[in-house]
Amino acid sequence: MQTTFTLAQLADPNTAEAEKILRTCVHCGFCTATCPTYVLLGDELDSPRGRIYLIKQMLEQDKPASEVEARHIDRCLSCLSCMTTCPSGVHYMHLVDHAREHIERTYRRPAADRWMRRLLATIIPRPNLFRLALAGASLAKLVGAQHWLPKRLRAMVALARIPATPRVTDRPGVFPAQRQKCGRVAMLAGCAQPALRPEINEAAIRLLNRLDVEVVVAEGAGCCGSLTHHMGLEDAALAAAKANIAAWHREIEADGLDAILVTTSGCGTTIKDYGYMFREDPVWRDRAKAVSERARDVTEYLQHLGLKSAAQGAGLRVAYHAACSLQHGQKVTEAPKQLLREAGFTVLNVPEAHLCCGSAGTYNMLQPDLSQRLRDRKAANIKSVVPDLLATGNIGCMQQLEDAVGVPIVHTVELLDWAHGGPRPRSMN
Ligand code: SF4
Ligand code: SF4
Repeated sequence: MQTTFTLAQLADPNTAEAEKILRTCVHCGFCTATCPTYVLLGDELDSPRGRIYLIKQMLEQDKPASEVEARHIDRCLSCLSCMTTCPSGVHYMHLVDHAREHIERTYRRPAADRWMRRLLATIIPRPNLFRLALAGASLAKLVGAQHWLPKRLRAMVALARIPATPRVTDRPGVFPAQRQKCGRVAMLAGCAQPALRPEINEAAIRLLNRLDVEVVVAEGAGCCGSLTHHMGLEDAALAAAKANIAAWHREIEADGLDAILVTTSGCGTTIKDYGYMFREDPVWRDRAKAVSERARDVTEYLQHLGLKSAAQGAGLRVAYHAACSLQHGQKVTEAPKQLLREAGFTVLNVPEAHLCCGSAGTYNMLQPDLSQRLRDRKAANIKSVVPDLLATGNIGCMQQLEDAVGVPIVHTVELLDWAHGGPRPRSMN
């Protein structure tokens, strides 16, 4: 794609990077067929190619974003299915992240939209505040008050669950190997996940300790910043990322870290991108790169460790839902399925596995109509393979699909822990 940026515009490294990405697009349109919003709406402007054009115009003209640009780019799930499909290697993720930041900086959203975004960006990354909000929303649901709320707040309340009590695995600490230590890793405690399903990290830590890996939850690490990053709130996203980089770098310097493990694939995709996010920052660049290089999805690391075969899961039909952030964002596709198979489960592939379930961070609250259509489509595809269980690697997908699939939903690592001597996952009881 030809571009017409001026030299002055290209002096900005972010614009120069966007230009490089734009030039790799050859307008072939292969990406449209696998884009969930294009599949639903059939509008070119809601396809990757259409959005790339909009972003090009918006950046080249160097004007504040318009309502049209904001609307079509807001509808993008950042599912990155287009990146898997694109034969030219267009790095849509970096392009749309830059566009979102430009929109946030230059476009004045309607008041309700601004308020909603501020609310989400304030509450979700703070575990205690998030627990409080979950408790309030659960109460509202109990007394039926959600019917009086505006649509998007209603969607937010519908997704709320009674918060889990804080666990020891949410707090900074060292979880020792059971026998002779053969590895040392850090684990992201995260922000929303411990309030919703603390048993995921508990299972991961238990399993790793049984495999003689020491696990550290580092002091000072918290939200990965992806929620604010995908809203274009760069200052907040970079501040969260810096806190994590500093915390993990202290651990690297103190005792070394073989890996930084993440059990929420949405967060993993962002942490693997810290090196890029700080590429122009001489103070943080090297440490960010060291962190990104060590970041792994928990299943990647378990596959590298090698688990013994197990028979616990024999007979159970597990539909595997590939979270977009894991399959498209990190290109981790086989490790979770292979580990589940080796653990004795019958793994079922879900039709249209490349399409997003509509969760996409805060998308299910900001775009409830599209999100629900995608959820219903995903749920129908899952039900079509008649599973006993649904396994996935991202808390957002688990919450999104919880009431829709009619079978228990478990994190892949909970099943692996169970198959290798841990307790049966709570959601299966
Ligand atoms: S598939 Fe890639 S090259 Fe083709 S239109 Fe889409 S982004 Fe551009
Ligand atoms: S990230 Fe997903 S929703 Fe956005 S353009 Fe690409 S395929 Fe479509």
